[in-house]
Amino acid sequence: MAKKSYDVQVISKLCKACGICVSLCLGKPENVFTQAPDGKAVVVKPENCIGCLNCEMHCPDFCVEVSEKEAE
Ligand code: SF4
Ligand code: SF4
Repeated sequence: MAKKSYDVQVISKLCKACGICVSLCLGKPENVFTQAPDGKAVVVKPENCIGCLNCEMHCPDFCVEVSEKEAE
């Protein structure tokens, strides 16, 4: 079975730069997010997403969206 892949988006204008998603991300082998100089979350490695939804569930401003991609 093909590995599942996910699309991760941050709605930047709603992000308050708390860093929760960055610290809770279980992306493998490394974090899906990084923090920009202004502290806002930026998706840098969506291919590392395991679909745990920690980011989506814990973002206080509901500005992270994770969706499963269709198999190619
Ligand atoms: S769903 Fe999990 S692995 Fe994917 S970006 Fe969110 S916290 Fe990281
Ligand atoms: S948890 Fe939400 S508000 Fe906090 S840095 Fe991540 S996207 Fe921004």
